[in-house]
Amino acid sequence: EQKQTINFGAGPAKLPQTVLLQAQKELLNFGSTGISVLEMSHRSSDFNKILNKTESLLRELLNVPDNYKVMFLQGGGSGQFSAVPLNLIGLKEDQCADYLVTGTWSAKAAKEAEKYGKVNIVHPKLDSYTKIPDSSSWTLNPSASYVYYCCNETVHGVEYNFIPETNGVVLVSDMSSNFLSRPVDVSKFGLIFAGAQKNVGCAGVTVVIVREDLLGHALKECPIVLDYKVQAEMNSLYNTPPCFSIYIMGLVLEWIKNNGGSAAMETLNKQKSSMIYDIIGTSNGFYACPVDTACRSRMNVPFRVGKKEGDDELEKKFLDGASKRGMISLKGHRSVGGIRASLYNAVTVEDTEALATYMKEFQKEHQ
Ligand code: PMP
Repeated sequence: EQKQTINFGAGPAKLPQTVLLQAQKELLNFGSTGISVLEMSHRSSDFNKILNKTESLLRELLNVPDNYKVMFLQGGGSGQFSAVPLNLIGLKEDQCADYLVTGTWSAKAAKEAEKYGKVNIVHPKLDSYTKIPDSSSWTLNPSASYVYYCCNETVHGVEYNFIPETNGVVLVSDMSSNFLSRPVDVSKFGLIFAGAQKNVGCAGVTVVIVREDLLGHALKECPIVLDYKVQAEMNSLYNTPPCFSIYIMGLVLEWIKNNGGSAAMETLNKQKSSMIYDIIGTSNGFYACPVDTACRSRMNVPFRVGKKEGDDELEKKFLDGASKRGMISLKGHRSVGGIRASLYNAVTVEDTEALATYMKEFQKEHQ
């Protein structure tokens, strides 16, 4: 049965229909095991196959070099806000780290890191999270243990379309909301992490890709489940991993591979996001996106309706009308208001066209 609802949620988000159908088909009896993945021992050879398949698909899709470990951990992106400094701030004597703060999520990460070492925000503080400060204004500290940034700020719709130059300092990136939405040169990074529940699966598992030589520097107070060296050596099986979420991620990665991989995802994501930004740009101010055109996210498109700062009444009408057409979860994050359309990999061109058509009709009716 085809679903009628289109989910534009920021995460947990839409999953490909074929993935859900496959999971449904296999739910009661996985392969010839006679049991569900939900019931399977994480030490069984059947689960090991699932884990290995998920890892090798990920390595293939992102071209992960051999000197990187891939881990599937719990605690979400927020867990990594702690795990990153706990594991890496001790890389150098000074125990300090450089942070780029361009939205809610990097701000939270920087605040958490302050518990474990010195944090330097490398650019003048932003009054609003609508741009990436020009790199000429950054003061990077050469003795920092790492430089951290959030590649796509999910709340504010700010995305880096370049890799920051750190002059040899280890680079760490939170790619939770644009993971596998485009190709990425993993070799430029010391560490990449991403929660699965936006582009690559359901909630419960967080991917960590880390260069091997960065392992083994954890602070002594680092909780063992967050210790990269321990988890890497144990193949993510120090403790019970989120088995079902890893299985779902495997299905999603297979779907990405069958649909042309990260390069094909990028083409589609460009096309989908341009569709919505074009309508905003040609609406004579009826729709407004506050984000600098140079760093507008292809994943999360935030906009206001009616006037630049938004007309609350009209925005409520917009959301009600969308919901009548089966388009849900378009409300902007509570901290910024307005509308946010999240266009992750599983959101199709047709889904996006439905939104585009609605936006045009709504403007005609209400301007
Ligand atoms: N980083 C980014 C970019 C996010 O969008 C989110 C969640 N929306 C997080 C981190 C936090 O993830 P979690 O809720 O899984 O801890």
